[in-house]
Amino acid sequence: MEKITSFKLNHNTHTAGFFLSSVNLDIFTYDLRFVTPNSGQYITPSVAHTIEHLFATVIRNSPIKQDVIYFGPMGCRTGFYLLLRNVAPEEAQKATIAALKDSTLLKSIPGNKKIECGNYKSHNLPAAIAAITEYISVIENFDTSSSIL
Ligand SMILES: [Zn+2]
Repeated sequence: MEKITSFKLNHNTHTAGFFLSSVNLDIFTYDLRFVTPNSGQYITPSVAHTIEHLFATVIRNSPIKQDVIYFGPMGCRTGFYLLLRNVAPEEAQKATIAALKDSTLLKSIPGNKKIECGNYKSHNLPAAIAAITEYISVIENFDTSSSIL
């Protein structure tokens, strides 16, 4: 079988950051890489789950909500995928930073009732906010011109 795009990325030299990883027609896939791959430090499942609930809710209520296709965690637990319709890196980075900041202001987890979620007890709001805050410091100083893989 053909090697898929995300496996062609050299994970040995890849770092935490904000990357445009592929463009298919008008769908732009961004990698929100929270931690450096294979560093021994990974996002725990409950923290990834809570970040998914927080950020998905905020970005889908943001000024670019009509362009949000998908947001969800990477299986390797080093970050998240954000799929946007026709949003270029600089604007995507700004919208992501704004949504991350708004996510840290939430006092409760949206959609965390049993009827709303498939694993409603697997959440950690304080640790999720701490992880988002740490990632904001990475992405705020990240040069978008180096963000295209
Ligand atoms: Zn859930």
